[in-house]
Amino acid sequence: MISVAIDGPAAAGKSSAAKTVAKRLGLLYLDTGSMYRALGYKAAALGMDPGNESQVLPMLENTKLVVAYKDGDQRLFIDGEDITDKIRTAECGLHASAISAIPAVRERLVAQQKEIAKGNNVVMDGRDIGTVVLPDAPYKFYITASAKTRAQRRNEELVEKGVPAKSIEELEQEIIKRDYDDSHRVHSPLKQAEDAHLIDTTDMTLEQVVAVILEIIEEGENKSDVL
Ligand code: C5P
Repeated sequence: MISVAIDGPAAAGKSSAAKTVAKRLGLLYLDTGSMYRALGYKAAALGMDPGNESQVLPMLENTKLVVAYKDGDQRLFIDGEDITDKIRTAECGLHASAISAIPAVRERLVAQQKEIAKGNNVVMDGRDIGTVVLPDAPYKFYITASAKTRAQRRNEELVEKGVPAKSIEELEQEIIKRDYDDSHRVHSPLKQAEDAHLIDTTDMTLEQVVAVILEIIEEGENKSDVL
């Protein structure tokens, strides 16, 4: 079994890199952030505060979250509704961040993620993959970039998707807040696993990031062939 864990702060280019690496190696790609986004989306749509544990817990018991694959692309269904495209907004990122600090939410999603990894060769990206979800993954990466670069990339992504644009400064502030909250929460905070390779992508193209990851994996696979 091959498993690749990719963590890092918001909008660092984790999912583009993870998706490409998965395609090239024929592995399953799981975007774990989308699972937190889905629950945050549902809570907000029901008028709840996604960070309020006593409101969220009963909702959690009545929620069915299904990860499916269509033509190789991950789709997310919450209570039967395909919400894959609806959860990509910056607002939903903040709802995801709030709901992800609730321990019962993390327990449930981590269990689901581990189950998916059990039966498949996977590339997973998130905040706690190398530290909690796949602590034994042979390949771990921590991908980061300056907050300004990340805001610019997020802006390009939103413009491309036709989502109403915010100013880059506003996006940068949101990203900084989300990073702060994610790395200061009590349960599974965002942090680099000790054995993860750090990649600062500020001055790198996606292709260069992918090349670095693939080289490290290839090297590791060649070594394990020899052993
Ligand atoms: O990666 P993405 O920006 O979609 O993640 C949304 C939010 O979900 C993150 O800001 C973080 O709070 C939470 N998350 C998490 N653990 C993960 C993946 C995402 O706490 N493995």
